[in-house]
Amino acid sequence: MLYAEHATKVLEACRIMVERGLTVGTWGNISKRVNENAFIITPSGMDYATLKEEDMVVMDLDGKVIWGNRKPSIEFNLHAKIYQARSDVNAVIHTHPVFSTAFAIAKMDIPPVSEELVQIVGEGVKCAKYALPGTTELAENAVEALEDRNAVLLINHGTIYVGKSLEHAFKIGEVVEKAAQTIIYAKILGIPNVISHEDCLAMQEFVATKYGQK
Ligand SMILES: [Zn+2]
Repeated sequence: MLYAEHATKVLEACRIMVERGLTVGTWGNISKRVNENAFIITPSGMDYATLKEEDMVVMDLDGKVIWGNRKPSIEFNLHAKIYQARSDVNAVIHTHPVFSTAFAIAKMDIPPVSEELVQIVGEGVKCAKYALPGTTELAENAVEALEDRNAVLLINHGTIYVGKSLEHAFKIGEVVEKAAQTIIYAKILGIPNVISHEDCLAMQEFVATKYGQK
């Protein structure tokens, strides 16, 4: 696939992010792996409504620009470090949706409360240690808290969703945001029931080996 074709996919993802109300203004950023050593990412501080394919930037995993004329998103380090650490990840979405960000502001991990969260995201979602936006430290902290799960919270900031594809990363985001929202509602009704570690493992094993059409 040519860089321009990857750029079209990222542009589509930006449109979806805005349509679904996952971000405000120019915040948030999206990337997609183009090969094992490079990824394509949205530019820094540009309006999603007027963004074009040629505004996207291709970088290697050390953060060096290899295609494009724009300055990349200031959070390129976050994306680069995740692709370095996780060869299974082909797409990264960073955004600030309301309910998940509420957990990040309260500095609370999202516990494993719903079956779909455990099945496709992991045994809950953890908060990364705080660091200023755009820093290498934030990127390292995010990778550390992400481990092998598909989402991580950034304290006082927002969320990161990772997936095998952009579609998969969006699905991760929807599941995490729903978990965050339902926990907040469940707390009004009583105490949210957290799924035990044993049941989380059993469910993940079931999904990996027996669920769906083979
Ligand atoms: Zn952000």
